[in-house]
Amino acid sequence: MSQITLGIIGGGQLGSMLAIAAKKLNIETIIFCDDAEAPAQNFCNKFIFGDYNNKEKISEFLNLVSIVTYEFENIPFETLNEINKLKPVLPKPSVNRLIQHRLAEKDFVNNLNIRTTRYVSIEKKSDIEALEDFLPGILKTTTLGYDGKGQHPIKSIEDLSSLNLDFSKGYILEKLVKLKKEISIIITRFNNHKYEIYEPIENTHEDQILKHSKIPAEIGEKIFNQSKEWATLIAEELKYVGTLCVEFFIDRNDNLYVNEIAPRVHNSGHLTINAYNISQFENHVRAVCGLEQVSLKKLSNAKMINLIGNQISNYRNSIKLNDNEFFFDYLKKEIKEKRKMGHITTLV
Ligand code: ADP
Ligand code: MG
Repeated sequence: MSQITLGIIGGGQLGSMLAIAAKKLNIETIIFCDDAEAPAQNFCNKFIFGDYNNKEKISEFLNLVSIVTYEFENIPFETLNEINKLKPVLPKPSVNRLIQHRLAEKDFVNNLNIRTTRYVSIEKKSDIEALEDFLPGILKTTTLGYDGKGQHPIKSIEDLSSLNLDFSKGYILEKLVKLKKEISIIITRFNNHKYEIYEPIENTHEDQILKHSKIPAEIGEKIFNQSKEWATLIAEELKYVGTLCVEFFIDRNDNLYVNEIAPRVHNSGHLTINAYNISQFENHVRAVCGLEQVSLKKLSNAKMINLIGNQISNYRNSIKLNDNEFFFDYLKKEIKEKRKMGHITTLV
């Protein structure tokens, strides 16, 4: 087989970890990113800086790669679709278009007879009346949200009307789930209907940003199996190739809901780097590059803590780590509040 060069769009920490995994498999990576300081340039073979609609830069990138993948879902569909005419894009652009849009994503999941939280589309001012059924709720922009950005908790209709919404954007109001727990499933689907699936990961958020992840999740057998079944069904329906994450809510009555789908490697799966024989990143590279599928083996239980904003500083000043602790610095130049700067995984 000729040498594969993997193109990755997006140069954040996920791009970095994909590049590190590819290197281990002797696959060269070219990263294309619209941030000149993107941390992944420290780990890839070549880094191309340019806007995601810069045709010249995109063609420079495409000339160098054999396959294209991406580390975040908010790349314009048109861009991915154009690229796909020249070099294969995996996961395919139509998957990305569906999942970029919270309403389309939730409709898709419900059509599979999988439970989501109740939701309603808000497109104009008059839609705000008579929404009591969905309160208390969370108002979200239908596109471009991440780490809780673009979200507002809503207790009453007055909260909604006083928000001064910009109706050039679409919104979705979701009923608040009384959360007992959140879990996620990371699954890698290979081209031939085959899967590698990681065990459910239990996640804790602070200010809507992931803070802790751990395996095993403290859940019963029913939820353990149902979450894996639902994630598999979603991956199969999408004819997905690569690593996918499904985020779930569990309510106080032990009902399981799909919260959202991430068509990419995911923060909650960072612990797979140390806790499994093959990480979510390596599996993604294996699947999109058509390499051999290797059965997953769990090596250890684990927990991961995200280092957000200033929390990285202590660790950068070389705190002593134990043998079972693994510290990752994303090498972001600027420390910003609420910005994911690094993480620590502990094998337990
Ligand atoms: P993002 O795209 O920012 O990850 P999410 O929809 O996953 O957005 O929301 C982030 C977090 O906010 C969730 O993991 C959960 O903790 C909380 N949250 C979001 N929607 C709801 C909801 N409908 N009910 C309860 N908690 C929610
Ligand atoms: Mg989320």
